[in-house]
Amino acid sequence: MRRAACPGSFDPITNGHLDIIMRASKLFDEVIVAVSINKTKTTLFTVDERMELIREAVRDHPQAATNVVVESSHGLLVDFCRAHDVASIVKGLRAVSDFDYELQMAQMNNRLAGVETLFMSTNPQYAFLSSSLVKDVARYGGDVSGLVPDIVLKHLRERL
Ligand code: ADP
Repeated sequence: MRRAACPGSFDPITNGHLDIIMRASKLFDEVIVAVSINKTKTTLFTVDERMELIREAVRDHPQAATNVVVESSHGLLVDFCRAHDVASIVKGLRAVSDFDYELQMAQMNNRLAGVETLFMSTNPQYAFLSSSLVKDVARYGGDVSGLVPDIVLKHLRERL
């Protein structure tokens, strides 16, 4: 089975993430969204909340995919890949500014475990989007509809 991982914090999932996940789901038999547990990072949503928001967003997507699963991940991503029999990591690239760090990570992960990283270009509609920007805008009352799944919009409004 060709299995890929889409890793990230997803605090919360945006339409940019969702676009990459759905496109990856067409290329692989199974896509595992690996939601990172980082105890040193303060997040708006707990790991369980972030996972549930992703599940609901995938389910509500017009082309709902049945081959997307959501798991939590802590420690090294390559250990997660080994444990889940994942040979490829799929990452979205928004701009050149993402590239240096992503290239370094990809090379390190390949060196550590032979895992390949595939870069998917962001949908231009979402190139400026990040979870932190969405939270900042929503915190000050800005309208983020169309930038995050509806279920996220609802939870952002409640939380902020
Ligand atoms: P991190 O916590 O590593 O910053 P995120 O949860 O923000 O990760 O995002 C996970 C991955 O999703 C990023 O590494 C990036 O490749 C991709 N991504 C984030 N936002 C977008 C977007 N708007 N378009 C395409 N890919 C994105």
